[in-house]
Amino acid sequence: KGAIAFKDVHFHYDPDRPILKGVSFEVPAGKTVAVVGPSGAGKSTISRLLYRFYDVQEGSITIDGQDVRDVTQKSLRAVIGMVPQDTVLFNDTIAYNIRYGRPAASDAEIEQATEVAQIARFIKELPEGYNTKVGERGLKLSGGEKQRVAIARTVLKAPPILILDEATSALDTTTEHEIQSALDVVSKNRTTLVIAHRLSTVVNADEIIVLKGGEIAERGSHAVLLEQN
Ligand code: ADP
Ligand code: ADP
Repeated sequence: KGAIAFKDVHFHYDPDRPILKGVSFEVPAGKTVAVVGPSGAGKSTISRLLYRFYDVQEGSITIDGQDVRDVTQKSLRAVIGMVPQDTVLFNDTIAYNIRYGRPAASDAEIEQATEVAQIARFIKELPEGYNTKVGERGLKLSGGEKQRVAIARTVLKAPPILILDEATSALDTTTEHEIQSALDVVSKNRTTLVIAHRLSTVVNADEIIVLKGGEIAERGSHAVLLEQN
């Protein structure tokens, strides 16, 4: 479930400056496709279009064959999970932040999600555990910890589609590897769109698309693209 298709998508914020000039690609259900390219290439715009923060001017975007323009933003948010580059958490408890998106989740389910995200042990060691308040008026979490809370939230929500927007780019190598392994678990058998700067961070994608100047410059497997670049 959750197959994505971009068909000849044209998009601009400003009519004088096209951002996407006829972009077509598919993410088959359960597969992972990575979009890489230089800063300003239009990578994040692709995720904004999927969420309908903006609509395409020409072409179409479909999920399981249905045009996203026929789907409300609310419904899209229910099927698409996002692990952003900079996770912003609510000034509330860790449990609240993880439950967000699935308020009825049980404590056991929350704990299981934090095991996948590799922060369960860390949370249990906090004096108030899952009830520890985070954010400006609570515990300061590191970038990697915030990201892992976001991953736990996504595990719990279990959306058919996952967007990873440069999810590990701002981290040191060890943390990057730990988070990458957690993300591999989360994206397994789930339609996943990875947005990344560098080819090196997307080893596990089924296909890689290189976006340049609003067009797909190259596409292929990781091995083939590494050979060519
Ligand atoms: P990437 O993710 O590849 O770095 P983006 O999709 O964020 O690129 O942006 C592509 C281009 O669109 C950039 O040149 C950026 O300045 C421009 N852009 C992004 N958002 C807006 C906006 N809301 N209004 C106008 N221009 C924008
Ligand atoms: P960053 O993500 O900014 O690199 P770290 O991931 O290295 O930060 O974590 C910072 C601190 O949080 C560490 O000192 C560690 O004690 C604690 N921590 C983070 N994740 C875990 C974990 N899975 N188990 C135990 N402690 C953790």
